[in-house]
Amino acid sequence: MVRGELLYEGKAKRVYQTERDDVLLVSYKDDATAFNGQKRGTIVGKGAINNQLSNAFFRQLEASGVPTHWLEAVGERETLVRRLTMLPIEVVVRNVAAGSLASRLGLEEGGRFPRPVVELYYKRDDLGDPLINDDHALVLGLATAEELAAVKQMALQVNEVLQGLLERAGMLLVDFKLEFGRTVDGQLVLGDEISPDTCRFWDLATGERLDKDRFRRDLGRVEEAYQEVFRRIQEVV
Ligand code: 5GP
Repeated sequence: MVRGELLYEGKAKRVYQTERDDVLLVSYKDDATAFNGQKRGTIVGKGAINNQLSNAFFRQLEASGVPTHWLEAVGERETLVRRLTMLPIEVVVRNVAAGSLASRLGLEEGGRFPRPVVELYYKRDDLGDPLINDDHALVLGLATAEELAAVKQMALQVNEVLQGLLERAGMLLVDFKLEFGRTVDGQLVLGDEISPDTCRFWDLATGERLDKDRFRRDLGRVEEAYQEVFRRIQEVV
């Protein structure tokens, strides 16, 4: 597939046109940002690792019946995906108290929830991606009630599949963020990426953080954590 015009450049990825209208090529970068772009840096090797990890996760999800945009890996840091019109919503699933939820509700990080918590955020950089509920999404016209129900159901299914995979790799799936969109023929599917940039993975035995929090919180050994996740996931897929 020929790499065509650059359509979009985000914080962690570039998206190119291909010779097919309904297929895009995603290229993962080593650039890292946090706190709505206020913190910037480079995580050497991240692009290649996130691409390959995301591909491994999407393959498993497809095999488990979750519809996704994933088509084919084409290089160390490049993948072909179906073109989507994205819902301007981030769907976060949480199994353990951490990050913004722990701060917002005054919880200590690390407490496991008796059931998964699903949250919606309005994807608006200028507003800092605020937490919203279904009513907000509906009055803002971000999605229909049917779409909200479908994305929540798919998000919980993703949680089931990833939790099992991560556990086999000796990691706890603390939380993660998903994005969904519609294909050219109208199917609602999972898009974007699943990687240590978009998830929290903690070592099951030690609780060590093996994700982007090492960069966000200046914990050191950032590259090593990404490599460790990659090594462990390769062993179980
Ligand atoms: P929190 O709301 O605690 O900051 O994040 C919850 C989970 O969603 C974490 O796993 C985090 O990595 C992911 N997440 C939430 N918002 C974003 C975002 O804008 N970009 C990325 N890469 N991940 C996000």
